[in-house]
Amino acid sequence: MRCPRCGMELVRGEPKEYETLSEHVSNPNQEEYPLRATYACPAGCGNNTFWDPDGAEYGRNFPGLGSARDSFAEASDARVAAEMAK
Ligand SMILES: [Zn+2]
Repeated sequence: MRCPRCGMELVRGEPKEYETLSEHVSNPNQEEYPLRATYACPAGCGNNTFWDPDGAEYGRNFPGLGSARDSFAEASDARVAAEMAK
C-alpha cells in the first residue's frame, strides 16, 4: 500500500483500537474495539493519519484522496496520471 498523498510505501504502525467503517455502519453503538494493525506514511503525512489493512484512511486529513490500495483508489490513479504527465 502506498500513501495516497506522497506515494511512499506505507509502514506498519502501532496497533490501535479503532472503529472500522463497516462497524460504524452496522453497529454504531459499539464502544470497544480490538487492537488492530495500522499502517502509516514514513514521510509523516498527516500527523495522526493511519490506514487499516484494507487501505482505508483514518484521521480524515486527506479527504478525497481515497484508498491507499491502488485497486480501490481512483484518486490515487489520478495522482499517478498527473505525475506521468509532468
Ligand atoms: Zn505520505
